[in-house]
Amino acid sequence: MDLIDIGVNFHTSQLAGHTSDILARAREAGLVSVMATGTSHKSSVQALHLARAERGFVFATAGVHPHSADNWSPSDLERFALLWESPEVVAIGECGLDYNRNFSSRENQRKAFSAQLRAAAAFKKPLFLHCRDAFEEFHALVTEPGVGAVRGVVHCFTGTYDEALAFLAMGLDIGITGWVTDLNRGGALREAVKGIPLERLHLETDAPYLSPKNLKRRRTYNEPANLRWVAHEVALLKGLPLEEVARRCTENSGRLFSLKTTRPEMR
Ligand SMILES: [Zn+2]
Repeated sequence: MDLIDIGVNFHTSQLAGHTSDILARAREAGLVSVMATGTSHKSSVQALHLARAERGFVFATAGVHPHSADNWSPSDLERFALLWESPEVVAIGECGLDYNRNFSSRENQRKAFSAQLRAAAAFKKPLFLHCRDAFEEFHALVTEPGVGAVRGVVHCFTGTYDEALAFLAMGLDIGITGWVTDLNRGGALREAVKGIPLERLHLETDAPYLSPKNLKRRRTYNEPANLRWVAHEVALLKGLPLEEVARRCTENSGRLFSLKTTRPEMR
């Protein structure tokens, strides 16, 4: 079964030092690609280096997460431009707004997000987006004149069907994590998944976070090899065969991020 994990945080302390084992298990589990998330300049450079070392299997995103937005300054555009123009960087982000934890000031979050929205248009790349408890301002910034038509995915979506519809109407796709396997916290998402068109869905682990609850044997961290359990739950909720959900989501991610994957038999 071919799967693409669009969100893995290799730079976190939980995954550091395990990269080659994680990638070996990912290949064994049938993944055809993994996207390494960049959340700061440093982690974006790390993601790009990994993508270059694992060409055709790992791809990178580059951007500033809302949690790190206090460190953003307009002069960052120059050093990020060097990353955004690299072919291995397939999306701008992780960027967006997080008004739940407010680790950076809301004003700085808006500035960093707004700059990255414009960069996505300038560099003609899709966005890897984070939106938590900030829908109205997120919508306002995305639809501002000068931003243009956006493409991308709202990663780790946890909201309701109506919220999903609003993102879809903005031209954005929806990323589903192991949150969908959480019977306590995931009720709204589980309902939403039933109605979101399959052609707008992407699968991700958001490793090392959000280990699927339907997975019996768990490590201390989540990893791309566990992605099939997210696909499994989406398939159950949609009443579709697992293989179909996997195949269609893989097509969606390959197309949105223009992933030039190298299949093992072609190496
Ligand atoms: Zn996020």
